[in-house]
Amino acid sequence: MQDYDIVVVGAGILGISSAYHLKANNPDKTVLVVEMLGDVGQGNTGRSNAMFRNMFTSKENRELADSAIDFYSHIQHDLKRDVGVDKIGYLWLMSEKQLSASERHLRRMENSGVEVRRMGESELKSRIPGIETNQDSDEARVMSLEDVTAGLFGPKCGRLAPDRLASFYRDGFVAKGGVMLFNRRVARLLIRPRESTGFDGEPFVWQESGVSGVGLADGETIGAGTVVVACGAWNNELLDPIGIDGHAKAKKRQLFAVPVGTDASLKELLFARGFNESGTLPFLILPKSGLFVKPVKESNEFWVGCEDEFNRPFISYPEHDLEKYPAEPKYYEYNLHQVLREYLPQFERSRPDRMWGGLYSYNTLDNMPYVFGHEGLIVVGGDSGSGVMKGDSLGRIVDAFYRGGEGSEVTLYGGRPFKTSKLGFRRRDVEREDWIL
Ligand SMILES: Cc1cc2nc3c(=O)[nH]c(=O)nc-3n(C[C@H](O)[C@H](O)[C@H](O)COP(=O)(O)OP(=O)(O)OC[C@H]3O[C@@H](n4cnc5c(N)ncnc54)[C@H](O)[C@@H]3O)c2cc1C
Repeated sequence: MQDYDIVVVGAGILGISSAYHLKANNPDKTVLVVEMLGDVGQGNTGRSNAMFRNMFTSKENRELADSAIDFYSHIQHDLKRDVGVDKIGYLWLMSEKQLSASERHLRRMENSGVEVRRMGESELKSRIPGIETNQDSDEARVMSLEDVTAGLFGPKCGRLAPDRLASFYRDGFVAKGGVMLFNRRVARLLIRPRESTGFDGEPFVWQESGVSGVGLADGETIGAGTVVVACGAWNNELLDPIGIDGHAKAKKRQLFAVPVGTDASLKELLFARGFNESGTLPFLILPKSGLFVKPVKESNEFWVGCEDEFNRPFISYPEHDLEKYPAEPKYYEYNLHQVLREYLPQFERSRPDRMWGGLYSYNTLDNMPYVFGHEGLIVVGGDSGSGVMKGDSLGRIVDAFYRGGEGSEVTLYGGRPFKTSKLGFRRRDVEREDWIL
């Protein structure tokens, strides 16, 4: 197969956004995307909750997400391409203890221009049909559920359609002359010395060497000036064999779709008024285990999930088939449902009729994404469960890294400057993210 200036491995949101920006800003370069599945966004991107928010504890996360949200809104409203952007808002329900622990973060968010509306208990009760803010039942005591005393509403947050977003980038990339190769898996990175001696056994330790292309699982090889590894949860599989630390580990996450059907109380909750232009409940986060409820009005259902850091094992080398990580019905029954029905009793009799699992790719250092490189190689990942909402910014950073190296500065959408070195490991300069969902 012919050589390319740039080969991007992986066509999830991070790979395809990177490819789009690389091709747009380097039109004379040949760019190939290799993806082991049949289209873009079919891995974890397509299995995600696809929510977006600018409410993060880390300053850099706020910048990356806020800018990407503006770009996604621009695609939706100015370019008239429907990528499902729907600013339904995030509503974090908090106990008194959680609120006081969050005050420091909230002040910093507000000071940096993030809009946060605070709601008291009575306002929450009047706006969220059926919400049980007082937790004094025996069950609540057993689970140490706390009373809801406040709500924090982020109006610039919402949801989008990840497959349509990935397709937007794919179409733009192909229209600019980019090439896609689907259903082909990269099995290894090729290594070559900068100057070959012609002797067997290269590269020797005394030679300057770097990545020079990719070897496909079927044995074919493709040469590349630069390889961008954007394989998400599978980054380690390509990086470990060449001694590069991917700085990320995968963990299973699950989503449960609970049908509303003809249940009047669930319907009333789904279409809770007064929060957003869509006339639905916002994305609701309960004060226990980051348990969340996402309204999906077009399919008349709620998606339910939670944050389960502790006791959920890391997976260093995930299977290629994500069906190997199915959602567990008992996890809903004995974990989520127990909490959900205490705060929102209208869920008492409801059960999911669809469910699926996927993988988060955690940067265990600071829960923040990275973009770093080596000779002939750029790696992007570690998005720690919020890569869709930062995909555009990370794609721009990969391109800036390609053009100017780690010391370069990128202008994110909306004209915001960002130093690429912040997301590297040599001169890493990011605040840790504490609000993982
Ligand atoms: C249940 C769940 C809920 C989530 N909710 C949200 C949310 O609300 N908001 C949000 O922003 N994020 C969310 N995320 C996280 C989000 O899905 C990820 O951050 C994002 O998809 C990462 O994009 P990616 O391109 O790195 O990974 P992926 O989408 O997994 O893409 C990697 C691609 O690389 C391909 N690939 C891997 N190895 C190879 C190889 N060797 N050769 C060729 N191709 C290869 C894979 O097939 C895949 O398509 C959620 C994730 C899960 C699992």
